[in-house]
Amino acid sequence: MLFVVAGPSGVGKSSVSRRLLEEFPRLSLSVSCTTRPKRRGETDGVHYHFVERGEFEAMVERGEFAEHATVHGNLYGTTRRTIDEAGAQGLDLIFDIDVQGAASLRDAYPDAVTCMLLPPSVAVLEERLRGRGTDSDDVIAGRLAAALGELDRLDEFEFAVVNDTLDETYELVRAVYLAGGQRTQARIDALRRGIGLPVAGSG
Ligand code: 5GP
Repeated sequence: MLFVVAGPSGVGKSSVSRRLLEEFPRLSLSVSCTTRPKRRGETDGVHYHFVERGEFEAMVERGEFAEHATVHGNLYGTTRRTIDEAGAQGLDLIFDIDVQGAASLRDAYPDAVTCMLLPPSVAVLEERLRGRGTDSDDVIAGRLAAALGELDRLDEFEFAVVNDTLDETYELVRAVYLAGGQRTQARIDALRRGIGLPVAGSG
């Protein structure tokens, strides 16, 4: 199962994903490639695969990405290999990606379960973006404009959860993950097999 938790930066996707990963051993994080510089506390191969722009562009040319997007001037992408390897190991994957990436991923993998995380209000999102304390006003204004554009695509998602308090948000996203897992084709095929119904493509 591919579980996409999308939404603008600052909305709290990584806190929710981290908790799901702690609770569900069968769930693994899709580690993206990015050209942005590593932040303090980040480890290559754990938080991201940090690659040079030239290398990223070569990977795009070779068709290695299931989706890729430019976010705040840096390139980000999910490789097909990441998805294939998780599938081979029987793991679910959680994606902490932006809204454009979620849309491309759904085009490539229509079975993906998609959930958008929303801020309680635009004002709260602005506060959270400022709260990081690392960026200039211009950068924050740019992020806010990008965030509004992303939120506007809410209707493209199957599920949406408002991130007000982390505990409540977590319970809802967890419910979406568990319910979403029941509607994938793999799950439906397994159910059919389980009760002795024929399964398409298995002869
Ligand atoms: P950050 O640089 O703060 O880690 O992430 C910036 C934004 O890029 C976040 O909204 C994050 O979800 C998004 N992002 C991270 N990895 C990917 C990816 O592989 N593809 C896409 N489309 N967005 C990503």
